[in-house]
Amino acid sequence: MRTLDNFIDGQWRAPAGAARQPDVNPADTAEIVAESPRSTAADAAAAVKAAERAYPGWRATPAPQRGQLLYRVQRRMEARRDDLAEALTREEGKTLAESKGEVQRAINVVEFYAGEGRRLLGETIPSELPYNFCYTVREPIGPLALITPWNFPVAIPVWKLAPALACGNTVVLKPASLTPLSVALLADIFTECDAPPGILNVVYGSGGDVGEALLAHPAIRGVSFTGSNDIGNRLYGAGAARGIKCQCEMGGKNPIVVLDDADLELAVASAAQGAYGSTGQRCTATSRAIVVDAIADEFVERLEAKVQGLVVGNGLDPATDVGPSVDETQMNSVLDYIAVGKKEGARRVTGGARLTGDAHDRGYFLQPTIFDRVTPDMRIAQEEIFGPVLSVLRVPDVASALSVANAVRYGLAASVYTRDVSRAFTFVDQLEAGIIHVNSPTVGGEAHIPFGGMKATGVGLREMGREAVAFYTELKVVYLDYTGSARAGNLY
Ligand code: NAP
Repeated sequence: MRTLDNFIDGQWRAPAGAARQPDVNPADTAEIVAESPRSTAADAAAAVKAAERAYPGWRATPAPQRGQLLYRVQRRMEARRDDLAEALTREEGKTLAESKGEVQRAINVVEFYAGEGRRLLGETIPSELPYNFCYTVREPIGPLALITPWNFPVAIPVWKLAPALACGNTVVLKPASLTPLSVALLADIFTECDAPPGILNVVYGSGGDVGEALLAHPAIRGVSFTGSNDIGNRLYGAGAARGIKCQCEMGGKNPIVVLDDADLELAVASAAQGAYGSTGQRCTATSRAIVVDAIADEFVERLEAKVQGLVVGNGLDPATDVGPSVDETQMNSVLDYIAVGKKEGARRVTGGARLTGDAHDRGYFLQPTIFDRVTPDMRIAQEEIFGPVLSVLRVPDVASALSVANAVRYGLAASVYTRDVSRAFTFVDQLEAGIIHVNSPTVGGEAHIPFGGMKATGVGLREMGREAVAFYTELKVVYLDYTGSARAGNLY
């Protein structure tokens, strides 16, 4: 068990208060993986001070050199990938294979933004004014707050801090209280790579105390948040009131649409992967399967057979397909939704209960669950469940498949399964989601490809890829009159 302090100014610093929170292994609640501080506003202020102090030096460091630090971090993460993956599984619960995938994605992100240090390009633009050289430069914003959720405790902090640092900002990161250890290992790695003190600071503690304090701090010039809608929307309002840059990536209710000409085997495999992978605790998880009537019976039958073969257990066991819910509250929230689904009259095909007996008694394990004959107005068709539950909605035709797919407030990811190119492009055109997949699952993403949602899922600019640079920089326009002739009077 590791006792964590806050990481401020390049050092592990004891918090102002003595209160600590256990980091419990959700697959084996007897194991306390770490303990993290319940920090206060004073700790948050100390971290912001460090980020403020480090900012001028880091801003002045040439961007290619900032990228060199990230290359060192990339190599160190590669060397420590097994430690990172094991810590991730122990504190979040996902399977070791899923953790290794997440760590690899984070490594790719660091590599991509290391290269961005050599590509912080501006533009030259022809001016209307004679003898004027007009160009744009990308400058950092200042000290930033990064607030992250528990479901990707390595990848999401990394996909915020890597572009933030490459662009010359300094950061204070507040990780989710449920998963503090993964970020501590990242801070260790930055230390091992001789990162300048204060460019990356980590403050543990509740969102209500530390998150709010960061957001309200006058030295914080921007905030990148990933998490739930309730918190994100409030935070966006508070950021707007302060006039600081803000991006919030939030919930999803992602559909897979299966048309009558689909490769059914492929669609069933993708639905299972999207719905039950990472225990359904992904923002991109497949939560709805919208299936045309003609093939719905066969789809449900094949899916049921597949789901019954899934092994639920401790993610450290290589035989496990589906890990636990992250904690008891999350598990109970999923069980509540299952009760709602039954009450609303959906047909439970399989699952629907907590798993007990033997090793299952030690953790928060749920049976992978399918509901059939779900209607679009039901809560289980509308609300994010964030657990291993899939709702099947049967529709008569292609047009209703499209309207049902769009009839939710979220818009993160959507998949369509068809062999007809015209239908595929119609769905690409009409689906209301930030990420569209044709014949591939709703989940996944790549370091160099933008990520984020529309409608209630996302406000602010997209994350990852080159899009992230637009969020993590200010754009400055320069007019350089190299003869002074503009003074002759043609300004307007
Ligand atoms: P959450 O409860 O909103 O928490 C997210 C972060 O915000 C945590 O660090 C939390 O701290 C902090 N926080 C809580 N209250 C706060 C406040 N008043 N002010 C500032 N910060 C505050 O979300 P979660 O349960 O960790 O994550 C699950 C949600 O994230 C799901 O809705 C999922 O869809 C979404 N998500 C979205 C994406 C995407 O890219 N669209 C990706 C992953 C996850 P504590 O941990 O201390 O509460």
